[in-house]
Amino acid sequence: MKKIQMVDLKGQYEDIKEVVNTSIQEVLETTAFINGPKVHQFQKNLEQYLGVKHVIPCANGTDALQIAMMGLGLKPGDEVITADFTFAATVEVIALLQLTPVLVDVNEDDFNINIEAIKKAITPKTKAIVPVHLFGQCANMEAILEIAEAHNLFVIEDNAQAIGATYTFKNGKKAQAGTMGHVASTSFFPSKNLGCYGDGGAIFTNDDDLAHTIRGIVNHGMYERYHHDVVGVNSRLDSIQAAVLDAKLPHLDTYNKKRREAAIKYNKAFEGNKNIVTPKLSNACETICESCDCHVFHQYTLRVKGVERDALVKHLNENNIPCGVYYPIPLHLQKAYLDERYKEEDFTVTNQLVKDVISLPMHTELDDDQIEFITSTIIKFVNG
Ligand SMILES: *Cc1c(COP(=O)(O)O)cnc(C)c1O
Repeated sequence: MKKIQMVDLKGQYEDIKEVVNTSIQEVLETTAFINGPKVHQFQKNLEQYLGVKHVIPCANGTDALQIAMMGLGLKPGDEVITADFTFAATVEVIALLQLTPVLVDVNEDDFNINIEAIKKAITPKTKAIVPVHLFGQCANMEAILEIAEAHNLFVIEDNAQAIGATYTFKNGKKAQAGTMGHVASTSFFPSKNLGCYGDGGAIFTNDDDLAHTIRGIVNHGMYERYHHDVVGVNSRLDSIQAAVLDAKLPHLDTYNKKRREAAIKYNKAFEGNKNIVTPKLSNACETICESCDCHVFHQYTLRVKGVERDALVKHLNENNIPCGVYYPIPLHLQKAYLDERYKEEDFTVTNQLVKDVISLPMHTELDDDQIEFITSTIIKFVNG
């Protein structure tokens, strides 16, 4: 059996080596390392894939979120509601811009931001909601867009983990993750579903004016060369990363399908086990199907019951099975984001999830022997 890895970038590269190498070579030959034709080409191809009017590439997913918020003109003191159970980048940029982060609890079943908690957190100062499409499936966008409309709030989708996922509205309309709010951000960090070989990110929007504003912000606030109309940043996707991404984009749906196939095998192995809760789908489908994109499994995350999660992590590591705990500490308890307004009883779900969750190896190269070894090792352990 091949050594099991949490993410197998080498195996994936082997498969597409020639196109990636050629694509990078083209950049080397043109020496257009910044904002070269590859960046533009990738931007156009991603716009087409997503069915969104504007993709604005930038340096990473954290910048993408920050720039989206700058583009919307959010001001110090504005309150921004987001999930307590996510990667810190989401709350970090809110705080950096001197906006006020308002963390709220999530759902136990799909780990995404809880609608009732959002409603409860809205005040006259609330200006935006940042749903994070955690682990590869969309938050409840139908309800979030309704709330935003009713309270005149911006919706900024943090789509770092769900590129290629779709969301189905009650009327049957389907939309790509990252195309439903006013603006969205994504990350091309190597381990993301569409990852480059360094740092990269992008902002998506259907709003022409906002896209124009953002294109200036990513480039020092310049709309005309050496005229700085607003305070901007320097945040660019370099051409070599765009070359990698453009070579990988045509494979994204296949990659996401491979992740789903692995998830289906995991689910099947754990079926009926009373100590293991497998990931729940919360949108259009009841069970995962290979052909439907309602979940793209950036992570395959279990909740374990009746056993010590940390003991399971240790046992897996001893058996050379990598795993991850995303996330071990709720954001509202992180030193940097403490706020006396938070009450523990408002975070019962996150406080529990941080003790129960465990993410298993998930990538495009998992084979049946590996999945069988991972699942049987877990089942033996939890069944005692
Ligand atoms: C990865 C990630 C980010 C940040 O992306 P970087 O490219 O690493 O800056 C932001 N939000 C979420 C939910 C992420 O998973």
